Amino acid sequence: MACEEAANPAAINPREMALQQLAESAERIGLEEAIHKKLAQPKRIVVVSIPTQMDDGRVEVFTGYRVQHSMERGPCKGGIRYHPDVTLDEVIALAMWMTWKTAVVNIPYGGAKGGVVCDPKSMSEGELERMTRRYTSELVEVIGPEKDIPAPDVYTNEKVMAWIMDTYSMNKGYVVPAVVTGKPLALGGSRGRSEATGRGCVFVIEEALRVKGMSPQGATMAVQGFGNAGTVTARLAEEIGFKVIAVSDSRGAVYNPDGLDVAALIEHKQQTGYVTGFAEAEEIPRDDVLTVECDVLVPAALGGVITKENAAQIRAKIIAEAANGPTTPDAQKILDENGIFVLPDILANAGGVTVSYFEWVQSLQSYFWSEEDVNRSLRNVMVQAFHDVYQRAEAAGLNMRDAALDVGVSRVAQAQRLRGIYP
Ligand code: GLU
Repeated sequence: MACEEAANPAAINPREMALQQLAESAERIGLEEAIHKKLAQPKRIVVVSIPTQMDDGRVEVFTGYRVQHSMERGPCKGGIRYHPDVTLDEVIALAMWMTWKTAVVNIPYGGAKGGVVCDPKSMSEGELERMTRRYTSELVEVIGPEKDIPAPDVYTNEKVMAWIMDTYSMNKGYVVPAVVTGKPLALGGSRGRSEATGRGCVFVIEEALRVKGMSPQGATMAVQGFGNAGTVTARLAEEIGFKVIAVSDSRGAVYNPDGLDVAALIEHKQQTGYVTGFAEAEEIPRDDVLTVECDVLVPAALGGVITKENAAQIRAKIIAEAANGPTTPDAQKILDENGIFVLPDILANAGGVTVSYFEWVQSLQSYFWSEEDVNRSLRNVMVQAFHDVYQRAEAAGLNMRDAALDVGVSRVAQAQRLRGIYP
């Protein structure tokens, strides 16, 4: 699954957080009031009920959302999450962040997000399939390759994307691979997509180390959340010389100051379901992973985990946000005061949607790229995005989060200005 469950749900309402970020960016870049007003509202919110036959014969009715925040720069794009804590406000915030994210990496999309309030860990594969297919049928008129292209997010994966692709195609009467990204390779998925979030995260970490005059050789990393983004980031960071010293998941955390064997830890997690119980490490309280001394801390689970309560204890030099919204605005202020260089979510985890874009292009053209082509193109996009943001940060004396927001919001605003308000 795409991410691991985190400790504490966001203390602050994520929609308010996203609106506050937009308001601050609007102020800094001198955004026209009309554009600010438009971008503060999603273009479309769809709420559906999803009656699903459970294995014991009961019918459960789940609630699902799809929020399309903006289409200024292209079709809406963004993942779907399955989680018991999903709320409409969270999905709205995540859709808005997708708009800025696609703009930061300069790919031709707007932003969207979907969510279903459910507990996928307690559901059978059949239940998940029936729920996914009904959710897709409810959305069949609003999604599509030219309209809105879903992808994996927290606790959804390529199997879920295959069900969506099949359901949408059956409704249309022909095969539509470009309706989702993050599909299995056999259905027109892209090479490199499943690793793209972690790989993109490591590309921006490398650039950050470069501008800070640091080397990955022997640098230390702590990873909070050991799902797709966390495992890939840890593995690729180890490949370039990092020592991954601490890793956590929803149950606990393991620590080894000499560096964990990431491949062995991934295997242990696959076999037992958790990182705890891993032989070559000491167990530490789960949330201590955030406060161990290290060069790079990677929050790779849910939002709202770095808060004003724990931010002052963080002893990392760099934070790379593989998760969406892990740091609250109050916490960011403390991190700034302590000189911690934060690579924000809309930059650090944009590798996933970037390779989603490559997948969509490949699906539309039925022409497929090699893994080297995908990874090379991903590196180019991530390095360019890092420097666009870094340049703004240096020029305006901002932290990387504010700089990334300004880059993203400015690009969306420029498109909006050129298109004008219809009619
Ligand atoms: N869910 C991922 C994100 O938050 C990927 C979205 C996509 O590929 O469309 O960026």
